[in-house]
Amino acid sequence: MPITDDCSRIPNHCPACNKTMYSSDRSRPNRTMSLGGGLLLVLAGIVAAATYLTSTYILRERFATHSPIGNDLEIVHYPPTVMLSIFTLPVALLPGLILGWLANRLPRVRRVRCWNCGWKQKFPGTAKFESRPDAAAAHNAATASSSSWPTIV
Ligand SMILES: [Zn+2]
Repeated sequence: MPITDDCSRIPNHCPACNKTMYSSDRSRPNRTMSLGGGLLLVLAGIVAAATYLTSTYILRERFATHSPIGNDLEIVHYPPTVMLSIFTLPVALLPGLILGWLANRLPRVRRVRCWNCGWKQKFPGTAKFESRPDAAAAHNAATASSSSWPTIV
């Protein structure tokens, strides 16, 4: 679902069915990675794997030794892949880590969902939840009694 125009405030009540969506603050959804961030993370994995496989293959072919044994036959000795990985793994991890770092820096989102009717919407990670009217009323009731006390002159 697209991000709405009024995305600075996340409603406490579902706009579709008007039920209270998150009964406690702890049940509210956390900021999660956006779709773009997730795709960038997948791309980071693919790039790292492709770099590792390609560079290992190139080094393996580069350092292969050919020993002819006659009749147009030859024995090919490849260097151990574990040895090559010592060099190719750090090289492959570098672009993967850079892309992963970029994905982590992208703006996060909050996916808000109604338990009752299934209404859902994405809000930017900076959006705040609306202050609870019931909590505000309780706070006012608590402070109103003391403010109505007679003041000592
Ligand atoms: Zn609802």
